[in-house]
Amino acid sequence: MPQALSEIPIQFIKGVGPAKAKLLANLGINTVEDLLYLFPHRYEDRSQFTPIAMLRVGETRTICGKVLTCRRNFYSKNRTVEVAISDKSGRITCVWFNQPYLANIFKEAQEVVLYGRVDIFGKRLQMVVPDFEIIQSEDRSLNMGQIVPVYPLTKGITQRYLRKLIDDCLNLHASRLQDIIPQEVRQKRHLGPIAQSIKQIHFPSDAVHQQKAIDRIAFEEFFLFQICVILRRFSIVHKKGIVHHVDNSVLEQYKNSFPFKLTGAQNRAITEINQDMALERPMLRMIQGDVGSGKTVVAFWGAVLAWNNKKQAAIMAPTEILAQQHYLNFRKLLGQGTFKDIKAALLISSTPAKEKKAIYKRLKEGEINLMIGTHALLEETVAFKDLSFVVIDEQHKFGVNQRALLTDKGGNPDILIMTATPIPRTLCLTLYGDLDVSVINEMPPGRGTIKTYHFPLAKAQAVYQKVRELVQKGTQAYIIYPLVDESEKLDLKAARDMFVHLQKFEFQGLRLGLVHGQMKRQESDEVMEQFKKHELDILVATTILEVGIDIPNANVMVIEHAERFGLSQLHQLRGRIGRGSQDAMCVLLGDPLTQEGKLRLEAIVQTTDGFKIAEEDLKIRGPGHYFGRHQHGLNELKMSNPITQIEVLEKAREDAIILTKSDPQLGGHHLIKETIKKRYPQYLDLILAG
Ligand code: ADP
Ligand code: MG
Repeated sequence: MPQALSEIPIQFIKGVGPAKAKLLANLGINTVEDLLYLFPHRYEDRSQFTPIAMLRVGETRTICGKVLTCRRNFYSKNRTVEVAISDKSGRITCVWFNQPYLANIFKEAQEVVLYGRVDIFGKRLQMVVPDFEIIQSEDRSLNMGQIVPVYPLTKGITQRYLRKLIDDCLNLHASRLQDIIPQEVRQKRHLGPIAQSIKQIHFPSDAVHQQKAIDRIAFEEFFLFQICVILRRFSIVHKKGIVHHVDNSVLEQYKNSFPFKLTGAQNRAITEINQDMALERPMLRMIQGDVGSGKTVVAFWGAVLAWNNKKQAAIMAPTEILAQQHYLNFRKLLGQGTFKDIKAALLISSTPAKEKKAIYKRLKEGEINLMIGTHALLEETVAFKDLSFVVIDEQHKFGVNQRALLTDKGGNPDILIMTATPIPRTLCLTLYGDLDVSVINEMPPGRGTIKTYHFPLAKAQAVYQKVRELVQKGTQAYIIYPLVDESEKLDLKAARDMFVHLQKFEFQGLRLGLVHGQMKRQESDEVMEQFKKHELDILVATTILEVGIDIPNANVMVIEHAERFGLSQLHQLRGRIGRGSQDAMCVLLGDPLTQEGKLRLEAIVQTTDGFKIAEEDLKIRGPGHYFGRHQHGLNELKMSNPITQIEVLEKAREDAIILTKSDPQLGGHHLIKETIKKRYPQYLDLILAG
């Protein structure tokens, strides 16, 4: 049998010595297989370039021309290199900053391909910091005249080198690529041989073949990932869990114990939880609800149900403030009346050692009914008598394994996951196809409305004045900055300096506080606590403020340099205000330089609907960024995008369900198992455990 491509070190390939091999390893390439699976992050159609005369401001385009002149201006603030390029139709200047060595790279009359955004400078068009490639006459065949792949690079590795290397390896080894997708699935979905798809992914013969190859690879990526997700579900719901008896009269009492009526969406979620918890198979359900939609009351019901069945419940939150908030809320909402006998306790890392010890003991003996806490709950010393219901708040802040650490403390407890990050359906299917989902898509009535405005930074003084007026009338305000400290590279206002400045000038006489991510947890908690008690009027902060904080009297928010924030981030930040019955005001201060930045601010001004904002955000940034890079194996989805390729995703999911049903251990699908081990090691245990 010929050697597998995953066993041929890249160093054995002609043109790769030990030095290059090291550099390639930086790109994650150690074997020939790795190289062939290094996919382009974009393509350039070099069969036809945009004539320079046709360029318009704001467009991102590829042009091809000859170098006319190359000038450096090292006296300018950021040491520019300016290169004038011409084609038959016209000329344009391209500019780079702080890369003086470029002045030695461009030579007169050289042919170059440039890719970048067209800007306007004075009255002339320019390309600012475009990608460029100098075209040499000897290797035009792979680099010009066709759709050309553009790869992620590392220092010392050029596009030209990679294209040649990949082309060589394809010619020599493509026929030995193994198909991960089983024969029967390939037939059903009319998927051609993998070797052809991989060739087309690198060097597409035309746009149609290119799209076909992308969909084929996307199918493979979705298929593998869905197998992981489905096996994760198997590993939980195929166990024997705990049956909860639902007493409807207790539920009625529960609903009647609040000063408000539950919304329709809250009632629906509670019904779904009841159905799940009454079953023997463990519940695995996610509640999605925008900030302020009232998820907590739904989660508390599960805890009451556990208590009513003489079992224990736990709620785990990602920060101390959130854990404390849940604890205080529970006491406030349920501490008197029918449910006053439910014993809740709070465990966070700053809980004094002596108190911790007492909690461990009471918990183990079953005296505590509801344990609320942070990661501190995961410690080995934390043991329950009979844990039957677990809530994980803001679950994307925890890893898959941390969730297991908590649930393993019970006999397959029912699991409820809460998230305020709205997740559009298709992405939800990709990431959480294993979870049942309840959506709380209705806000409690009687909330004030949030008005959002966007002004240029130059209007800051007037905005501060307005904030001052509102604060003097008794509301509280947040002022948010993108950075903690001023930076040399970026000309931005920063939290620490502005805190000092505002206290001294614009907000003299008012009580200001400062929180940011570089403070110790305890210090920032203290400041938050003061703000909550209205001992402070204005809180200057960074994005540390992101999740969950519930301070109904804070109804003004100013976000400076708002163009620096992502859409979801802006939405989460804004979710901190408008939580009471008062109307709220959010002001975005910023001067967006890009079209994208403008669109983001417009979107935030126009809607407060988290799902709409999430859809927009995903379109603009893609799923990897939406959740943070390392989460959920999204990094492994290289050619697939759950937003644009929903049809491919649904087919792959269907086939993954069929396969895992017939072979949950993947015993008959060795290659799939091996590939999952390699790409998604975090799911490995699930498969081995079976
Ligand atoms: P989130 O979904 O962001 O966790 P919370 O559960 O913190 O939202 O609820 C926000 C606020 O709304 C809390 O003060 C809570 O008591 C209140 N609340 C929850 N449900 C309702 C309702 N049906 N009617 C009125 N207020 C409610
Ligand atoms: Mg159950």
